[in-house]
Amino acid sequence: MRKHIFNAGPCVLPQQALEATAKAVVDFNGSGQSIMEVSHRGKEFQGVMDETVALMKELLKIPEGYSVLFLGGGASTQFLMVPFNLFNRKAAYLNTGVWAKKAIKEAKSFGEVVVVASSEDRNFNYIPKDFVVPADADYFHITTNNTIYGTELRKDIDSPVPLVADMSSDIMSRPVDVAKYAMIYGGAQKNLGPAGVTFVIIRDDILGKVERSIPTMMNYNTHIAEGSMFNTPPCINIFVVREVLKWVKAEGGVVEMERRAIAKADMLYKAMEESSMFVPTVPEPGDRSLMNITFVMTEAYKDKEALFIDFAKERGCVGLKGHRSVGGFRASCYNALDISSVAVLVQAMKDFEAIHA
Ligand SMILES: *Cc1c(COP(=O)(O)O)cnc(C)c1O
Repeated sequence: MRKHIFNAGPCVLPQQALEATAKAVVDFNGSGQSIMEVSHRGKEFQGVMDETVALMKELLKIPEGYSVLFLGGGASTQFLMVPFNLFNRKAAYLNTGVWAKKAIKEAKSFGEVVVVASSEDRNFNYIPKDFVVPADADYFHITTNNTIYGTELRKDIDSPVPLVADMSSDIMSRPVDVAKYAMIYGGAQKNLGPAGVTFVIIRDDILGKVERSIPTMMNYNTHIAEGSMFNTPPCINIFVVREVLKWVKAEGGVVEMERRAIAKADMLYKAMEESSMFVPTVPEPGDRSLMNITFVMTEAYKDKEALFIDFAKERGCVGLKGHRSVGGFRASCYNALDISSVAVLVQAMKDFEAIHA
């Protein structure tokens, strides 16, 4: 039987996407070839690429003037590609966790990095509110969802300089005002597809303004000019992303994904409110992620955490162990996780508490 998959990434995928992929692995579109065997330059795979780009544009209402790329290298390579392409003298970063810090580390070898605010003082359990972005920065980089700590910046902020967002773990979970961003990127494996493909949404006119010469593979213009096919793209991963996007569209798009995310998070947070055993790690409700819901056991029950992981596993709930830097539990409730899985988890929490409290 299929598990209730709360994994933080790679994440749960829609059943239809899995089945369509299983078919295409054996025979892609009746071509007598696997999706893993066809030429990426062939008409059929080009169709997959074009449709995937079109679905991204449609679902996120991406305005004219932006390119959508599917690259290799993960979000981690974007930490480096962003400064290669956009950094002249100074860049601003918001430090909301490990991923932000990794992005900051890469940028530092290009020049002056201003960290406008940080929530490290409280182990990143909140989103800093009062910060000033220097008007002479080349760009301002944020991480909208902090996968490890369970915090999320859920509104599209105004920035005096081009805004760059790592949306690895909350892309497609809500409507986004793309026009407010110069660039949005992320690894697909959190909410969009399997590991191995990275999406980049970039406003074309912010490119070409740096003085350095950019290595070919690091240059966004290389990939824009070649429609993400300068080199062999991760074909099957892009196919899966297309299937996931088709599912998102059929289910009602990002507005519906957001409605479901709110319903799932509400269910879990309500269970914690009614509990004397489970507490959220993010105190401020407005800062809580709808995607990664982090919680721990209160001091009195701390020694029962491992026991609960096993208890939930017996009911089919997997992937609940919190990241080592936070401890406790993390229930990742990405788009494809059905609310019935959250109901199973909540029941397990209640039953466990009835036995042990
Ligand atoms: C997982 C994650 C990354 C790293 O992604 P890779 O594709 O593994 O390089 C970066 N940022 C955020 C917010 C993440 O959740």
